[in-house]
Amino acid sequence: MWLKGNLHTHTTFSDGDSEPSEVCRRYADNGYHFLSITDHGVFVDPADLRCSDLVLIPGIELSTAATNEPQLPIHVNGFGIRGSVAVQQAETKSQTVQNCIDAIRAAGGIAQINHPNFHFALNAYDISRTRGACLLEIYNGHPQVQNDGDEAHIGVEELWDQLLTAGMLIYGTAVDDSHHFRGEFHAKRANPFRGWVWVRVRKPSVREILHGLATGDFYASTGVRLQDTYVDGWRYYVIIDTAGSSSNGQDAYVTQFIGDNGKVLLETTLPRSEFNLRQAGGARYVRARVLGPNGTKAWCQPRLIPEFWRR
Ligand SMILES: [Zn+2]
Ligand SMILES: [Zn+2]
Repeated sequence: MWLKGNLHTHTTFSDGDSEPSEVCRRYADNGYHFLSITDHGVFVDPADLRCSDLVLIPGIELSTAATNEPQLPIHVNGFGIRGSVAVQQAETKSQTVQNCIDAIRAAGGIAQINHPNFHFALNAYDISRTRGACLLEIYNGHPQVQNDGDEAHIGVEELWDQLLTAGMLIYGTAVDDSHHFRGEFHAKRANPFRGWVWVRVRKPSVREILHGLATGDFYASTGVRLQDTYVDGWRYYVIIDTAGSSSNGQDAYVTQFIGDNGKVLLETTLPRSEFNLRQAGGARYVRARVLGPNGTKAWCQPRLIPEFWRR
């Protein structure tokens, strides 16, 4: 089964505007199956919350900066941690990220590098010098995180391709980074329900969700729903759930299979697409992206191409 969840959420335990119980209720009422509350430097223990409608993934956002560049915010989420994790710091950006990852893993969790383009703090070089993070936010719903880059900086999806091309296997997430559940909803506020992940599990449990995230058995979305996506042998499948959207026909969707440096290897408008990984033309990895109606997207995870298929 597939479960929908948000991996980046703030509450009144840091700078969010609503109590954890209220935040949980909002996500449950909007069709989510799981949620991680990730307050800045504060561990909100799911065991202390009453929230029977969602699987709660223990989480935290470590918000820090390198001592030699204190103006550039470095934020790393931990999921599945056993308890609170101390915020880490080091002289360089890469070492600061690394110390956060290591602290999260030492607490039994998996790490996600958040919004690299927030203040353009982290570039591909900074991230490529770290080890052990499973996840990278490639879409974050907060208004100040510059997902698409600007005149001087590449977008986060391109940054992801740079990392993958350099041989770093890291999976892409879409998240809300929600702070504002009250008042008006508009693009300049950090409202919920903008980016999420669908994770494949055998049953709804924290352990299963973490396993799906850590192994890349999930996809990220800002609106496109998939029936399925998987790799069987050398075939990479993407099957769109066209009924799950307000599309006016199949042609509203474009599925792209992407290799090194973001090069589109194959593009289709079919609801069911497949790509032969043995025909990746020497690419080190292949991932898929679905472009849906009204600018919505889904991002499937990269698969490394075995060396002997690349020759
Ligand atoms: Zn952050
Ligand atoms: Zn945040």
